[in-house]
Amino acid sequence: MILIKSEEEIKRIAEACRIVAETLDALKGFVAEGVSTKEIERFAEDLIKSKGGTPAFKGYKGFPASICTSVNNQVVHGIPSRVKLKSGDIVSIDLGVYYKGFYGDAAITLPVGKISGIAQKLLKVTEDALYIGVETAKVGNRVSDISNAIQRHVESNGFSVVRAFVGHGIGKLLHEEPQIPNFGPPGRGPRLREGMTLAIEPMVNTGGHDVVVLEDGWTAVTADGSLSAHFEHTVALTDGNVRVLTKSS
Ligand code: MG
Repeated sequence: MILIKSEEEIKRIAEACRIVAETLDALKGFVAEGVSTKEIERFAEDLIKSKGGTPAFKGYKGFPASICTSVNNQVVHGIPSRVKLKSGDIVSIDLGVYYKGFYGDAAITLPVGKISGIAQKLLKVTEDALYIGVETAKVGNRVSDISNAIQRHVESNGFSVVRAFVGHGIGKLLHEEPQIPNFGPPGRGPRLREGMTLAIEPMVNTGGHDVVVLEDGWTAVTADGSLSAHFEHTVALTDGNVRVLTKSS
């Protein structure tokens, strides 16, 4: 069942989302060559807690860290480690916050130092695909209209969308219905309604769409070793508009 949120509930979700956005903004200035993903996790966790929030991923289904950090060919759910980032890397940071009973969720992929032309294109295409998905999340459209718009943008740029992980509803739970795939024909699935809160999150590979989960049980990597990026926003459908709740200031 898709839960429709009241104005008050959306206000509370927006507060959790503001902590997510502020933390991701701060990370843009922190991520650099020589910084480890473990240090990124520590920085993010301290900031989230200083704002009164709780990192939502820690312990979620047993996930061992506060945030997900996925480097280069890692798609999602990378576990922070002591390995230092180097120039040319890209790092996806996925971050969820629990605040006063509600969740916010967003992800960005950041360049480290000087990155290749294809990596630059990957980041742009993935972020643009997210915004195309967001614009398609209009009241009256169907869920798979979002999926189709994202897939068409990605594939027309020669990249592929990951099938194994999808976007989702969000609110009192981190993952609610509906599931929002980043691929598929338009015009399918539930109709989008006023009061829905959704996390839209394209994951895009420069190579094929297949992924493999490593022995740690979490880290998903591209099957062909190609690069992968991930951008995500939590949005609310209110007043006939799509409002991005995790927008960067
Ligand atoms: Mg999510």
